[in-house]
Amino acid sequence: MIVLVINSGSSSLKYQLRDTGSGERLAEGIVERIGDRAHGGPADHQEALEQVAKNIDSALEGKTIDAVGHRVVHGGERFSEPVLINNEIIRAIERLNPLAPLHNPANVQGIRAIAEKWPDMPQVAVFDTAFHRSLPEHAWRYAVPGDLYKKFGIRRYGFHGTSFEYVTQRAAALLGMQAAQFTGIIAHLGNGASVTAVQNGRSIDTSMGFTPLEGLVMGTRSGDIDPSILLFLLREGYSEHQLDQLLNRESGLRGLTGHNDMRSVEEADDPAGETALEIASYRLAKYIGGYHVAVGGAQALVFTAGIGENSWRFRERVVKRLGALGVFIDDAENRKKSDSPREISSEDSAFPVLVVPTDEEAAIAEATAAVVGL
Ligand code: AMP
Repeated sequence: MIVLVINSGSSSLKYQLRDTGSGERLAEGIVERIGDRAHGGPADHQEALEQVAKNIDSALEGKTIDAVGHRVVHGGERFSEPVLINNEIIRAIERLNPLAPLHNPANVQGIRAIAEKWPDMPQVAVFDTAFHRSLPEHAWRYAVPGDLYKKFGIRRYGFHGTSFEYVTQRAAALLGMQAAQFTGIIAHLGNGASVTAVQNGRSIDTSMGFTPLEGLVMGTRSGDIDPSILLFLLREGYSEHQLDQLLNRESGLRGLTGHNDMRSVEEADDPAGETALEIASYRLAKYIGGYHVAVGGAQALVFTAGIGENSWRFRERVVKRLGALGVFIDDAENRKKSDSPREISSEDSAFPVLVVPTDEEAAIAEATAAVVGL
């Protein structure tokens, strides 16, 4: 089955054309500067899609697209699985706009553009929050008055779910078990980063919360801070927009070092970078310790995404902090470069440490094929 995977942002449209039979990636790309005609961008998502159609035409080799799968950021409390899109589903995604004001409206623009161009095309929404619908209440509820939950939906949702689910399956396969038997901790460390506690194949806790800001130190996000800092800064005259920029775009590795990209931080090799890496690895190690307790004893620790898959230095920093759990790294295995799922722990480690490459587009394509039933 040929699936076009779409990740639609407000000013960009990322796409991949996948053959779910062979698992092959037939084409991929990004159309940027949507709405920025002055700089040669397409006028809107509709025009961006025309460009995508042109770009993938030769890769299709006369074949047709069977279905389109969309990455949708927020599925709220309703969506725990991928769904076939119809008008009611579009409205439901739009009702969640207040919870993801930048993402959900842009995702819907992508859905509408497809519906307009190919009215009969089956479309599937795959939600970033869905895998975390299994969180128990003691993990998802904040200790604030219940009204805030009832009135505004203020609770923890978690993100990167498509990646965590995919990596759960692949890690389980590497360990020779079913996904439903997998109990462990998965650290998705990309530009955005979060860590999830998986028990018997289900997410029972995750470090991102009401928004992707909570949790780990990320490329440009602070992760956990004392919320009173916001109140303090408000009183100091910061605006809502400034606070948003500060915590989402100017903090994390960037705030600590000037670089948001892990490669630049590692290459700079300066004291600020060293401090930032210590803060980030310490934070993650604390979560791993906590989640080891949460799952009742992890049977594996898994690293994935850009940093998790590629930075042996960062993996080493994190695992070196886990001596109290009896977890140890094998230096040679950890330093090997590879695109395959692999084990990097030493023989005497209490449980295996794995590196498992994620592939959110493959997961979306497979989920789409499953929902459409081809
Ligand atoms: P992602 O969001 O999953 O694409 O991950 C992006 C992050 O992965 C950035 O911080 C990159 O610097 C980091 N990354 C990618 N390749 C490497 C590498 N070889 N060594 C260290 N960090 C890397």
